[in-house]
Amino acid sequence: MRLPILEKLAQLGQARHWTDSIPLEFHYTAGVAGEEFRRELRDNGRFLVSKCSKCKSTYIPARMYCADCFIEMKDQFPIDKPGYVYSFTFVNKDRSGSDTDSPITVGLVKFEDVKGGIVHLLDAEDPDSISIGMKVAPSLKNLSERTGAITDILAFKPISTGPSKISVEGGRADRQAAGSMDDQTRSLLHSIEESGYPIEEDEMTISSLRSKIGKGEPLSREEDRLLHRLGDKAREWRKAVKSSSETEPGDTLSG
Ligand SMILES: [Zn+2]
Repeated sequence: MRLPILEKLAQLGQARHWTDSIPLEFHYTAGVAGEEFRRELRDNGRFLVSKCSKCKSTYIPARMYCADCFIEMKDQFPIDKPGYVYSFTFVNKDRSGSDTDSPITVGLVKFEDVKGGIVHLLDAEDPDSISIGMKVAPSLKNLSERTGAITDILAFKPISTGPSKISVEGGRADRQAAGSMDDQTRSLLHSIEESGYPIEEDEMTISSLRSKIGKGEPLSREEDRLLHRLGDKAREWRKAVKSSSETEPGDTLSG
């Protein structure tokens, strides 16, 4: 126990303590662009993005500076296209750590040709129907209830349950078929993903290919060509990054 130097207690009975509270208040802001993003969400139920005038990258949520060019982005506008599931998982606990009655699906929702994304709940009638690349739209609270918080979004819901919806049996059969999937296709996809090639522009393509290959669905001739084209791009990228002497022609896949 530390006491002021000049004050020494001779007897323990002289010790006193008080219990009270000191009011402290903290205010955090979402930042200039962050506030505009929240305001647009609250007032118009739309997502605001920022576009860089130099590299033409678009970011969600809106932000003040381009992460690549370090310049201010003054061009902001609401996004007008649906999101898609980039990645998702199931969790069995809520935010307080308590077990939930049924698994909650959480996903990263991205938008084509837009950097960044929104992590939120995914709400599908049949959670097994959720797949990577699936198009989703936000389900929002009523205007009068919205406060400009990310919880103004209740969840993202699939906007079409068309071809990506597969039955449980179908899914199982697909997964079994995945075992016999052409190895070259898999390793090609793997090499694209491992190459560090910036896939931002081709993200939609890659994610739908990844989804198909993951399920073991055969690629169409067109998709196969696309995969090989991306494979070539990734290989070029890798060559540019590493010195060409490190990569023998035999080490790369023949396309
Ligand atoms: Zn930029």
